[in-house]
Amino acid sequence: MSYVVLARKLRPNRFEDLIGQETVSRTLRNAVLSGRVAHAFLFSGSRGVGKTSAARILTRALNCLAPEEGNPCGKCGNCIEITENASPDVYEIDAASNRGIENIRELRDNVQYAPAQCRFKVYIIDEAHMLTLESFNALLKTLEEPPSHVKFILATTDPHKLPQTIISRCQRYDFVRVPLQLMADYLEKVTAAEQLSISRRALEFISRQAVGGMRDALTMIDQVLSFTGESAKDEEVLEILGIVDSDSRFAFLEALIRSQADDTMSHFQKLQDHGHDLHDLLAQLLREVKTLSLIQAVGSESVLFQDYTGNDVSSYMKLAGETSASRLQMMFDILLDLEERMKRSTHARICFEMALLQIVSLEPLVGVPELLNEIRKLRKDSGESPTKPNNTESVQQKPNDPVPASMSVKLQAPSTFQEKQEDSIVAESSGSKITSMLRNDTQVENPSQSQKQEEPVSRIDPSPGRAETSPVQEVLQEKPSLAPEETPALSQGLSPPTDWIEFAEKIQKRSNMLGGLIRNAVPASWKEGILRLGFKSGQPSELVGDENRKNLEALVQEFAGSEVQVEWIEDPLDSTKRTLLEEERYLDQQQQLARREEAESHPLVQEILKVFSGSSIKAVHLSQA
Ligand SMILES: [Zn+2]
Repeated sequence: MSYVVLARKLRPNRFEDLIGQETVSRTLRNAVLSGRVAHAFLFSGSRGVGKTSAARILTRALNCLAPEEGNPCGKCGNCIEITENASPDVYEIDAASNRGIENIRELRDNVQYAPAQCRFKVYIIDEAHMLTLESFNALLKTLEEPPSHVKFILATTDPHKLPQTIISRCQRYDFVRVPLQLMADYLEKVTAAEQLSISRRALEFISRQAVGGMRDALTMIDQVLSFTGESAKDEEVLEILGIVDSDSRFAFLEALIRSQADDTMSHFQKLQDHGHDLHDLLAQLLREVKTLSLIQAVGSESVLFQDYTGNDVSSYMKLAGETSASRLQMMFDILLDLEERMKRSTHARICFEMALLQIVSLEPLVGVPELLNEIRKLRKDSGESPTKPNNTESVQQKPNDPVPASMSVKLQAPSTFQEKQEDSIVAESSGSKITSMLRNDTQVENPSQSQKQEEPVSRIDPSPGRAETSPVQEVLQEKPSLAPEETPALSQGLSPPTDWIEFAEKIQKRSNMLGGLIRNAVPASWKEGILRLGFKSGQPSELVGDENRKNLEALVQEFAGSEVQVEWIEDPLDSTKRTLLEEERYLDQQQQLARREEAESHPLVQEILKVFSGSSIKAVHLSQA
């Protein structure tokens, strides 16, 4: 069998041959075409992605005697010499083995001389990050003022280990890992052209194992075929390369995620029997747990999964749905601990098995992200649009919520409606008088207005034959204003009577000052034409003053229809009565309580409590209604 090693045979000769590095190869070729070529290049990227190949193509392209559209012809003397490593003007330096200062000094001295036969002297420094600091400094001087006939190409897997001064003097090209599908496609094409028989599935195993490095993938195929000849079965590929078959590996992961102790241990046993290295197995598990977490976090559509086959992604998707992010995190932590333990212990396998048992016994915990997801799902199911993430913790009131958004302290019962209407007429008719009274602080007698007052006065004149009474009189006579069942919010008995509320509102309309006074007062007693208003201790009754009292007396008289004197008492006997202000606060609290209850008994909240057994409501944040 005359088998030419693929990795050598398929060494790229033109920029386009660099698989998966389209951007880099196009830019380099254009630079050569236009003649604007930098004097120093930095090629960075993981191993086997084509950095050195690109450096050689560039070297040939720069020196080719008959370049084709920026590509080297591959046939001229220079091309052939460079390809055969025989050119006196091209220096390939492996910095890993020639990192000392003497090598760089030699290079620096050598740089001065013109090329022997090529247009450019080219120095390719592989693994450039391995150079010593001294060497870097020596190199830097050359990079600062290079002779025009010299080109430098630095290649490295660790560009961050290079001094910034070096990097800044190079034109940088980042080589990417070859995506799995692209690599498998290429390998399929290559093996078909070489009439080698390896299945697509096996090529995908190889591509995954190569982690983006085309050279490694080709070397692996060579390795397999050196055992099997021109065709290899899937199992042979797996066995020769020591790749854990993705099916049995996935079954192992599946059992672990599903906490199936039996299956987990038997799969582990099987993998061990096939001679799989514990450290490789651990590394794979860590990768897989990370993959599941990633799928949970970003979904499977992400470009992050271009290194997976479609089948793999859907299997991972399914498995990711069976576990929680917090459990995956715990698994990851256990596996990381295991790595440390295996380093210290001589019983690595036992450590591994114990870690597996620890993982399968993990209690399923519901994490916050899962909780939020469940809530969003429930919200969607109940036809609501999901709220913004930062709002999801508090249960918002629906716009059509049956609980009133705001509740007025004014409770109007139908039986008082008629009286209210009539009182309004009175108030309007005597409006100018009151206004002038408040302005002048003196009661101006106006016959015509007094005349108008007569009718309502006679109406509210208390007489045994009349059932209806004025609202104020009702208060003053301490009659029960309304039956408790008609005013549920005031049923505690401590609330101010409904008519007192109406009275206060009327006062408020005339004078904010007096309205405020009334709202802070409790009607204590009404005897012999004297209305006693109680202020709870701390109320500023001394600030009220005589003038305001007179104004108030006039207003009360207007409503009562008879002479009224108003007196304050600092500490009312019945201090358990609420003032209107206190009543408003009380009702506000009641309303908040009602809304809280409403929120807590909301079907959605109840559903959540049901879904997450053992959960409880810790806080309800009511939005501003
Ligand atoms: Zn050529």
